[in-house]
Amino acid sequence: MRWIDRGPEPPGVDGYARQFTPGWVDHFRHGRGGRPTDSFWREFRSTLGVRTADICWYCERQCEPASEAGGKAATVDHFKPRSRFPELTYQWTNWVFSCRRCNEEHKQDKWPALGYVDPCAGDELERPEQFFDYDTETGEIVAHPTLTGDARQKAWATIADLGLNKLDVVFYRLDWTRQFLDDLGMFPAGERRAFVEFWFEQPQEFRGAIAMTVARLEASGEL
Ligand SMILES: [Zn+2]
Repeated sequence: MRWIDRGPEPPGVDGYARQFTPGWVDHFRHGRGGRPTDSFWREFRSTLGVRTADICWYCERQCEPASEAGGKAATVDHFKPRSRFPELTYQWTNWVFSCRRCNEEHKQDKWPALGYVDPCAGDELERPEQFFDYDTETGEIVAHPTLTGDARQKAWATIADLGLNKLDVVFYRLDWTRQFLDDLGMFPAGERRAFVEFWFEQPQEFRGAIAMTVARLEASGEL
């Protein structure tokens, strides 16, 4: 996971919010009425996805069109789940572009006391870069070693509940990292910085993991 600028709220969200939020609040907060069937936030799914060329903001894998069946289909995740925060159903800042696996198989309606690390956090101190590190030997995302107490707990809860270290994602993340390091190693030392900049100009899966890999190389003086 890395920080994503969600971008400005597109026109129309506020109208949907006024029209449909009361139905969600009635259903989940007051137990009145059936589950609303409106799904207008899907209109905005592509507006969110275009920020990362349709790469999931949680696991950083490429999503497939929403019409496709399967775990990599694109969805709009409600960061704070609708069942617990129905008043945020149509709040733009509560929407996260996510693959179906991260959203519906892992995160679901969970919301621990400390919440989760927000990929779009406005406050720099709350952004993913503050919470996570990357073990380039195992391919696993880990809590940042400087964290203690609640922040550490929040990092690990996010990793566990969102399935950031699910087996196949770890496999591809590690494979991607090795490929990046192999490619980097083909360049003479004086050209490696330019290669890194070129790499980050493209839409890429596992961008956050590679950014953490680069940070390690910088810290050890290898880049
Ligand atoms: Zn995902």
